[in-house]
Amino acid sequence: MIVDSHCHLDFDEFRTDLDEVIERALENGVTEILTICTHISRFHKILEIAEKYSNVWCTVGVHPHEAESEGQKTTEHLIELSRHPKVIGIGETGLDFHYNNSSPNKQCQNFITHIVAAQETGLPLVIHSRDADGAMIEILESEYKACPFTGVMHCFSSGLDLALRSIDIGLYISFSGIITFKKAQAVRDIVNHLPLNKLLVETDAPFLAPVPNRGKRNEPSFVVHTLKELADIINVKEQDLMSITTNNFHTLFDTN
Ligand SMILES: [Zn+2]
Ligand SMILES: [Zn+2]
Repeated sequence: MIVDSHCHLDFDEFRTDLDEVIERALENGVTEILTICTHISRFHKILEIAEKYSNVWCTVGVHPHEAESEGQKTTEHLIELSRHPKVIGIGETGLDFHYNNSSPNKQCQNFITHIVAAQETGLPLVIHSRDADGAMIEILESEYKACPFTGVMHCFSSGLDLALRSIDIGLYISFSGIITFKKAQAVRDIVNHLPLNKLLVETDAPFLAPVPNRGKRNEPSFVVHTLKELADIINVKEQDLMSITTNNFHTLFDTN
């Protein structure tokens, strides 16, 4: 049993064959899938998918890329949408200073709106962070001090300091197919500094397909390759890491 803790099943790449994608996931032992909201305007589509498949859950939130187009959404609006039983997290949210598709200022505002929703609902945050380690640490630590919250740093590709300080405030760290990429040694080097009970795996499908499927459309069944790589790095049995990451997922997210 493996959980794909982060993918985007509402994206066009899955428009024609989602039934087969879910079926292949099950055949490969990927028994649960969390599909992540990036646009409030597409939330109805996400919910439709989560309602259709009993093993798929979803989140509600505005990706940092959309902070300008949709970031005016209020905490109250997020909380209202999060009341559906299939919604188990808030996000994805965070900071992306690599692309800066929205201004850093708007991204910070949007992020804090989501953090408050997580603080008020108790739902975990799904956090995206790229080239923003300093600002991310500052916001996480000051907001956590004001009122604790839980969550996961998804598709982790930031520095060790951010990883360790995230763990210090109880956050989880999720690795994607990036750890199978040849040039990602810096990300692999972080893995053994982290406690096993804070690790998750994800695809971030349709993006970032792991080796040996690199370059293809990614899908939840491919998370097995990321899990294998992670098991090799840590030097634990794949079976053991499957149960560890699945338990971690259920400790963080309430699927009942
Ligand atoms: Zn992301
Ligand atoms: Zn994502």
